Amino acid sequence: MTPAERTSGTGGISVERDRCVGAGQCVLAAPAVFDQDEEGLVLVLDNAPSALRSDAAHDAVRACPSGALALR
Ligand code: SF4
Repeated sequence: MTPAERTSGTGGISVERDRCVGAGQCVLAAPAVFDQDEEGLVLVLDNAPSALRSDAAHDAVRACPSGALALR
């Protein structure tokens, strides 16, 4: 579990955890990229997703109801 701080593909994911309402849509859309902590708040597993995961990450950003996610 090394933090992925490489810049590639999308350039990375930014998360505003204080906006997260724990809906879990991001995990459903991109389970390889997002997870939820014990309180249901989003965790980023892969901050610089590969092209394949990047498509799912885009879906997750669109699916998030609180606007907590963005692609840089
Ligand atoms: S979809 Fe948005 S609100 Fe729901 S867990 Fe993910 S970041 Fe949080």
